[in-house]
Amino acid sequence: MSRVFNFSAGPATLPETVLRQAASEMLDWQGSGMSVMEMSHRGKEFTTIHAQAHSLLRELLSIPDNYRVLFLQGGAIGQNAIVPMNLLRGKASADYVNTGEWSKRSIQEAQAFCRVNVAASAEASQFTSIPLQDQWRLDPNAAYVHICANETIGGVEYHWTPDTGSVPLVADMSSNLLSKPVDVRKFGLIYAGAQKNMGPSGLTVVIVRDDLLGGALPITPSAFDYRQQADNDSMLNTPPTYAIYILGLVCQWVKDQGGLQAMAQHNQTKAAVLYDFLDNSRFFSSPVARADRSLMNVPFRLKDAALDDVFLKGAQARGMVQLKGHRVLGGMRASIYNAMPLEGVRALVAYMQEFEQQHA
Ligand SMILES: *Cc1c(COP(=O)(O)O)cnc(C)c1O
Repeated sequence: MSRVFNFSAGPATLPETVLRQAASEMLDWQGSGMSVMEMSHRGKEFTTIHAQAHSLLRELLSIPDNYRVLFLQGGAIGQNAIVPMNLLRGKASADYVNTGEWSKRSIQEAQAFCRVNVAASAEASQFTSIPLQDQWRLDPNAAYVHICANETIGGVEYHWTPDTGSVPLVADMSSNLLSKPVDVRKFGLIYAGAQKNMGPSGLTVVIVRDDLLGGALPITPSAFDYRQQADNDSMLNTPPTYAIYILGLVCQWVKDQGGLQAMAQHNQTKAAVLYDFLDNSRFFSSPVARADRSLMNVPFRLKDAALDDVFLKGAQARGMVQLKGHRVLGGMRASIYNAMPLEGVRALVAYMQEFEQQHA
């Protein structure tokens, strides 16, 4: 068996110890005689697994008691519609900050439900930076303010938390939740698909403040009504049981690494190795403003795009995969989530150095 360094943006690399534990428990979870996949979601075994995943996530993120954690389906794109369905609460509009492809997608989906006020946009800089808050035009009557905390495609990330006063702040954290500590109290709602940094696809984590429950539009499907899901322990419908189990193992792994503070250190170290190289190279470059660079997704370009395929083939031959940039941006992208080891980033940089010497 040999494993590659997988730089995929998602579904993405997972900690090897998690995969090994899942493999060892595949046929018989802790003496139950069953795989987790085969368990009733209401049985005592899965109830334990579910509760464990919940409590570990709450512990890691220090989630206050007045927030509910929901384990849903439909992904972050589902939440793009489910958020307005639940949070408009009689208001006619919501504020959105446009920092790139995922923000645009959120805006598009919300427009079916309300008037969207684009409070700030980084379009003029081709989405290479995050607009400072003093440039935002927030509406005090907005139902909520929506941001994308980390733009997985463009590689910009908030390294600060906006202050939206009494208007609830909503964040799509699909690609950076669990990468660093988060002050949950500053948010009304946080959502994230699991498949970037927390587990397999199929599971969507929603962290929502109590007072935002109960206002869903009458058309809201019951499975997407936060109040109903909260009242049913996220089991109004059959939850994605296996994905919840893996999330629990990933949370345990993060805890064993020292928690989110340690994770943040590890991620800063890894990202610095790559960005320092990019900034000192005359062949490779990062398009993103320094202050707003993502620690999770690092887009970069070769000086000569005609060499992109040669670069990717060479990377593949060295056991480094999924480095091709998103189709809307071109170039390259290295996603370096929690589970990417420092040695993976070092191997990439060593290859880039070698490539530069050969082709510059
Ligand atoms: C991947 C991603 C999405 C889309 O997630 P789905 O699970 O496909 O719905 C949305 N937002 C961000 C920030 C992402 O990284």
